[in-house]
Amino acid sequence: VLDTDFVHRWLTAAAAAISREAARLTDLDSAIGDADHGSNMQRGFTAVTAALEKEPPDSPGAALILAGRQLISKVGGASGPLYGTLLRRAGKALGDAEQVTLQELAGALRTGVEAVAQLGGSAPGDKTMLDALVPAVEALATDGGSFEAASEAADKGALATVPMLARKGRASYLGERSIGHQDPGATSSALLFAAFEEVAR
Ligand code: ADP
Ligand code: MG
Ligand code: MG
Repeated sequence: VLDTDFVHRWLTAAAAAISREAARLTDLDSAIGDADHGSNMQRGFTAVTAALEKEPPDSPGAALILAGRQLISKVGGASGPLYGTLLRRAGKALGDAEQVTLQELAGALRTGVEAVAQLGGSAPGDKTMLDALVPAVEALATDGGSFEAASEAADKGALATVPMLARKGRASYLGERSIGHQDPGATSSALLFAAFEEVAR
């Protein structure tokens, strides 16, 4: 079972990973975007960890909603509302239960990912964060699913964006020139799932 402390530790580990990899995320975004994905994510997750300390949530769902709200209000780029929606919707789906099962978390994250696709008007294959998020959530939700399998699926999904032509977001303005570069958002999504694996160990 997963409790509030688990989600708190996940968000803290995610913030640390984003901080560590911020330069790489910004490099990826400089190739096919506007070179701010690392700083956008860092600003957002710094606000998330600060909010967690300031007003400690009392359920996994409340922790996700708190984090989502910070991302939406503190990140200017497209990734803020998208990741914010993911976390807020997943949190809402969990309600106020103090402990949730892996399957419940997987189902909630799936609801969140569906909300991202709706907000972004995007689907897997468009060279976005969804190319990592969708396979990761499916790997988690499947029978015998694990954070390890989800993290592996997210990494594979992020890598698979390299040969794709971007159809959504800033990278889509480049058309064919977006081919050959890994999507920054899919890369940060893989970091979020690596953080799950890290705290579940
Ligand atoms: P911005 O593009 O506004 O500068 P970021 O650089 O922080 O925002 O985030 C860019 C990432 O957001 C992209 O790499 C992509 O993964 C994701 N993204 C952008 N638009 C969409 C969309 N419509 N649907 C899903 N993901 C998207
Ligand atoms: Mg950008
Ligand atoms: Mg930007």
